[in-house]
Amino acid sequence: MSTKKRVLIKLTGELFLSHDKKRLTADVFTTLISDLKELHLTHDIGMVIGGGNFFRGNQHGKALGLTASAGHQIGMLATMMNGLIIKDLLEQHGFLVSLFSALTCPEVGESITSQALHEALGAGRILVFVGGTGNPFFTTDTSAILRGLQMGAQEVWKGTSVDGVYSDDPAKTADVTLLPKLSYQQVLKKRYGIMDATAFALAAEHCIPMRIFNIFVPGALMRAGRGEDIGTCITS
Ligand code: UDP
Repeated sequence: MSTKKRVLIKLTGELFLSHDKKRLTADVFTTLISDLKELHLTHDIGMVIGGGNFFRGNQHGKALGLTASAGHQIGMLATMMNGLIIKDLLEQHGFLVSLFSALTCPEVGESITSQALHEALGAGRILVFVGGTGNPFFTTDTSAILRGLQMGAQEVWKGTSVDGVYSDDPAKTADVTLLPKLSYQQVLKKRYGIMDATAFALAAEHCIPMRIFNIFVPGALMRAGRGEDIGTCITS
């Protein structure tokens, strides 16, 4: 029986965008590889990848004049492309990886069953989840909580482009502070825009702790793995 901790890491697809957001790049992801190597010594790892670098239903689908569900389906396909990118990059660095897809596409990823997840984890593989929840009108934040629960993760980490949750919107107010700890109740009461409400409701219901931190800061993932108090931690 593995004594490793188990974590689900949610990564935004924007990880694969250059700073000016004009081209695709794996620069940031490549810097995460050594952190992942260290993390994998102590943790079983699952990852949910977004699709925002390619397509978001609410954004690009709307701009194209698509119906909402068609836009979201394209967004889910975008996450599959990112999953293939992650799998390939990780495998090039010696990781064993299993790609699981919520959308049926056996050429790309396996179906998500409890048995398959636990077999892959038992074999020391990193799990990469794509296709979101498989349903339109959700985001990959919700699939992160869902997959975290399915794989038995003790924590969900959201690697994003901000340092954590602030007392106010830093884009609008100068006098803001980073909040290191919050309860689900505080988040619900203050309506912090940390993640979509559906994801948050699911996390709160199952009391799964979440850590939100800036994945673009070198070493952040490693620090989270070492149990350092980075970003914002949300618990019951
Ligand atoms: N999406 C969806 N259902 C899901 C997950 C994602 O319809 O369960 C669509 C949605 O349009 C979303 C897009 O896929 O905008 C890409 O995911 P997301 O916006 O979460 O990616 P990120 O911002 O994390 O890169």
